[in-house]
Amino acid sequence: MATRYIPTIGLEVHVQLKTRSKMFCGCPVEYGAGPNEHTCPVCLGYPGAMPVMNEQALRFTALTGLMLNCEIPKICKFDRKNYFYPDMPKNYQISQYDMPICLGGGVPLDTLAYPKDAQKDIASPGKTVRLVRIHLEEDVAKSTHFETSTGIDFNRAGTPLMEIVSEPDIDSPEEAFAFLTALQQILVYGNVSDADMEKGQLRCDCNVSVRPEGTDKLGTKIEIKNMNSISGVRRAVAYEIQRQIDIVSAGGKLLQETRRWDDISGQTNLMRVKEDAHDYRYFPEPDLLPVDTSAFMDEVRTLKPELPAEKKERFVKSYEVTEYDASVLASDRVLADYFEAAARTSKKPKALANWILNDLLNALSAAETNIADCPVPATELEELLKLVDAGTINARQAKDVFAEMFTSGKPAAQIVEAKGLRQESDSGAIEALCKQAIEASPKAVEEYRAGKTASINYIKGQVMKLSQGKANPAVVGDMLTKLLS
Ligand code: ZN
Ligand code: MN
Repeated sequence: MATRYIPTIGLEVHVQLKTRSKMFCGCPVEYGAGPNEHTCPVCLGYPGAMPVMNEQALRFTALTGLMLNCEIPKICKFDRKNYFYPDMPKNYQISQYDMPICLGGGVPLDTLAYPKDAQKDIASPGKTVRLVRIHLEEDVAKSTHFETSTGIDFNRAGTPLMEIVSEPDIDSPEEAFAFLTALQQILVYGNVSDADMEKGQLRCDCNVSVRPEGTDKLGTKIEIKNMNSISGVRRAVAYEIQRQIDIVSAGGKLLQETRRWDDISGQTNLMRVKEDAHDYRYFPEPDLLPVDTSAFMDEVRTLKPELPAEKKERFVKSYEVTEYDASVLASDRVLADYFEAAARTSKKPKALANWILNDLLNALSAAETNIADCPVPATELEELLKLVDAGTINARQAKDVFAEMFTSGKPAAQIVEAKGLRQESDSGAIEALCKQAIEASPKAVEEYRAGKTASINYIKGQVMKLSQGKANPAVVGDMLTKLLS
């Protein structure tokens, strides 16, 4: 019988923090400036230039630690990590070695964080992937390779970078996807990073190994460097697991390698073989004192937001929406705020949630915009629902009014007034229309009287047509039943 192989996956995630200035100097952190415009002797690594810590970066990292349930030791310190790399100005990186700012913690994997096609079949529902640590360091410069030369831009050098290291707790490509999705959501919730992978604000290295089922010793660890999309991570990890299984099961031996994912060919390629562990000759950074985190932790604690999982639970309790609806609403902080702005005073929050999750999200995606730029304020959407609830307009008319609200930004009541859309509820007028429809539909009437009750819907449709959609469907229904009995 063929041996089954168990994959083991650990992720290292680098996150650019949303500070105004760099980690150890006053240069602005700004995307899209001209090459080398945001540089100074400190971030260019001139000898003798002295680094000064960015307190906001420390706070953001500690806040991330709180959101991910980490322990924040009272003292942390910075160390020099020595290695040569052309885009690193000082030939060392200021990082944290044995006393990082955050220890432990974990990322809970919510169902919705998994890829859509994998949500029905989750191997370990409710799983939390543990973290080893989170430390703070500085980013390097960016090289651009031309045909015969390479340009280097130091704008990125010295940008505060948070490194989040997971335990090898991840068992599948789908869990790796869920880990990154859930982590990204929390980072955005805390407003510590925009965590946009396309802009390189969140970068991921994946460590992948396989071992035969029934054995404990982990297989040879292979690293895939610098992934820049979450779906890419899923595909790369899946590819790499299969590649390793193919080699090992054919009797081959894996080398400790660093590989690169090629999204176009859909395979990983060898970058370099790691002969032995790199010796970075870490030592304490002599230009920076250790940090007493207790100096700012009280304040950081007040910044901790309600997290997606907590929000979801509260929405289910307070607004009686389904677990699923609550998950979708809570997945985006702006969307959650939008819902809540109207739900707080709504008599029918469940109907409001339906409108947001169907009509509003569809309209936003059709207009290629997002909830942050939504042209319909939440309170106006609630006004529209009130008009339906009061019987002023019917559900069909509400869809048209909503479409107009979305394009014109006008309030619901104004559109209803201007278009003369008021629903006809006057029983005299409706009776006349019903009689007309009954006369014109002898076949349906006969069927209805013979016991086929559904035929009444056809007649009802005729009445709605005659009223140009303005008749109150409930009144029409009652009237037809009365007239046909
Ligand atoms: Zn600088
Ligand atoms: Mn790092």
